[in-house]
Amino acid sequence: MAELARVVVEIALNREFDYIIPETLKDMIAVGSQVVVPFGKSEVRGFVVALPEQSARSDLREIVRMVGKKPLISEGVMELARWIAEYYAAPVETAVRTVLPSSVRQKNARFKEQLFVIPMDSASDAEAVEKLRARSPRQAAVLDILLSGEAMFLSHLAKSAGTTTDAVRGLEKKGFVKISREAMARDPLAGQTVLRTQHQTLMPQQEDAFKLIRQSIDTLAPPVVLLYGVTGSGKTEVYLQAIDYARKQGKGAIILVPEISLTPQTVERFQSRFGDDIAVLHSHLSGGERHDEWHRLHSGKARIAIGARSALFAPIENLGLIVVDEEHENSYKQGEAPRYHARDVAVMRGHMEKCAVVLGTATPSLESWHNTQSGKYALARMPHRVDHRKMPHVRVIDMRQEAAKTGRVQMFSEDLVEAVRSRLARSEQVILFLNRRGHSTSLVCPKCGYVATCSACSVPLTYHKVTEELRCHICGAIEPVPKRCPNEDCRDPAFRYAGIGTQKVELAVAKLFPKAVIQRMDADVTTKKDAYTRILGDFRIGKTDILIGTQMIAKGLHFPNVTLVGVIAADIALHMPDFRAGERTFQLLTQVAGRAGRGDVSGEVIVQTFTPFHPSIQAASRIDFEGFADQELEFRKELFYPPYSHLVCITVRGRVEEQVKFSIDAFAKELFPMLGEKVVKGDPAPAPLARTCGQYRWQIMLRAASTRAVTGPLRALLDKFRWPKEVHCTVDVDAISLM
Ligand code: ADP
Ligand code: ZN
Repeated sequence: MAELARVVVEIALNREFDYIIPETLKDMIAVGSQVVVPFGKSEVRGFVVALPEQSARSDLREIVRMVGKKPLISEGVMELARWIAEYYAAPVETAVRTVLPSSVRQKNARFKEQLFVIPMDSASDAEAVEKLRARSPRQAAVLDILLSGEAMFLSHLAKSAGTTTDAVRGLEKKGFVKISREAMARDPLAGQTVLRTQHQTLMPQQEDAFKLIRQSIDTLAPPVVLLYGVTGSGKTEVYLQAIDYARKQGKGAIILVPEISLTPQTVERFQSRFGDDIAVLHSHLSGGERHDEWHRLHSGKARIAIGARSALFAPIENLGLIVVDEEHENSYKQGEAPRYHARDVAVMRGHMEKCAVVLGTATPSLESWHNTQSGKYALARMPHRVDHRKMPHVRVIDMRQEAAKTGRVQMFSEDLVEAVRSRLARSEQVILFLNRRGHSTSLVCPKCGYVATCSACSVPLTYHKVTEELRCHICGAIEPVPKRCPNEDCRDPAFRYAGIGTQKVELAVAKLFPKAVIQRMDADVTTKKDAYTRILGDFRIGKTDILIGTQMIAKGLHFPNVTLVGVIAADIALHMPDFRAGERTFQLLTQVAGRAGRGDVSGEVIVQTFTPFHPSIQAASRIDFEGFADQELEFRKELFYPPYSHLVCITVRGRVEEQVKFSIDAFAKELFPMLGEKVVKGDPAPAPLARTCGQYRWQIMLRAASTRAVTGPLRALLDKFRWPKEVHCTVDVDAISLM
């Protein structure tokens, strides 16, 4: 029986403290238990991270009490949290926070124990309801709302009907409803009917993939399968059957999808197969809903979790399978400490808990692809679309020639306009894609070349037509549009709107096709919770002819009636100061192209570009991932970039540039001698985004064959290095964004 517990406390400290376990708690406390401990003069909450044999200190105090009975974090997930902290050089406490949603962690998180109202049989008796309507219209109104599925809880229901709870109690007396005290899990899909779907008979390529995954679930050889299947090849059906297989062995499963494709459409596909056995962990859910879904898993009532990044830490025992869909997605990387990559941590959780891991994608990350080449992961290929539907035909349009034809830069090529026209005439749907929101990127003076730039962030401001303002997409600053060029020596009134954004495309398309119904979808329109669902819903049922959007519409969506996808400016992602720009462009174009021709009519993709011969654009136009990968890997190998090395990016920021520069230099001077010969050390330099939110940013880039060669010494130095008060240092291991 353990005597001591090592505890991480709820206030951000990168330290663990030992406590004595009081007699009364001895057989209850386990790794993962939430406890209250004395801390200085007060009491704080914390988590038990280990049960050590002995402590380095002798003046230990006792744990005050335990919160809840069953540990909130399993030993396995706790071990994973510690691994994350170590690998990503982050405080243990932030890792513990990461594995447990705040809605579960917080003190006042409780099941919604309220009175809830259930309609009885007579509520569907039309005659009785009509009588009620004549005699007590208020009670009838309550019944209407209840039956529409909008409200179930007594207080909420009464409020929605604009009446008091007495009216509801009146209904109960008349036998129309029953008021019950039972705790009920809030169902995020309440009011929606989900039809159960059956297994499809797998096609041969799916059968092969399924067999490999089954083998992995049974024997862990191979431990990880990369499922590389073109868009529409039936990957989701393979996931569904693999999960079903794991469930039949009594094992649980996790499906990770990128936040961006965690649409009701995706969730429904899983829900319709697994019903209540699946819990959804979604950032759009309210804290209460998340809390309930999490506890359905924790109690074992549901054994499958689906969600974005953090669903990886779902409390599921005896895991059989983790699926990471769209494994190449950068949103799997968390932007704050611990800066973990959910795909890589999924592989780690699989390894620790002895469960199979499937990474699925149409455009594998070069990291995962490289791992199949080196034999670390097994590869399952699905090169054909279901029913052997053709891959879309991709046409690359050289916009330089278009400009030469008319004497000025065009937004739409003649070919694209013609193609849209023909689809509209046939009542087919069109997606126009632009990797940028807003109206135009930047405001450029045609005379002196002045670019309106955020004074705090050193990035161009974005012009938003509807609100007539300039916005910074980094810090969110809003500025009015200047009447004249702000350059003192120029003051030209003809400030030109250069570049294009989704709003501008929308206006131009509306002009060209006045009869078409057009919808725009980007981060600006979808800040409201339901906008995303509504816009996609309208598009799916054919209300909308043309959907214009950013990468939000690039992925995962399945619209059989879309026969044309136009990419307005394929170059945008190409000109970023990042060695992954080519890979990103390739992925984006391939994913967008995958939206075309998913029904009976084959699709066409028109890619407009100013650099038609760039290798990424060429490879994308042939939908040739392997050709692209061969070429790109050669370049990465030569320059010792990932996947041939691990990249650690250290960023230091502060308001006073001299101070930032001085401290990062001092840090480098101590760090570099601690690192081995084989670590490639980049000298401190201003970050590509040299200023954000009024802070100067400097970076050090380190590359090494093994992460530990860097993080070991780095953590040791971080523990003792004293940064000036106003200077902050962040560490990004396996950095994805180099801005
Ligand atoms: P992916 O996830 O690879 O993009 P999906 O799983 O979405 O592909 O499959 C595309 C379409 O084909 C879906 O409508 C799906 O229901 C259908 N489908 C998948 N597998 C089969 C199958 N074996 N038989 C018939 N239809 C299938
Ligand atoms: Zn800014």
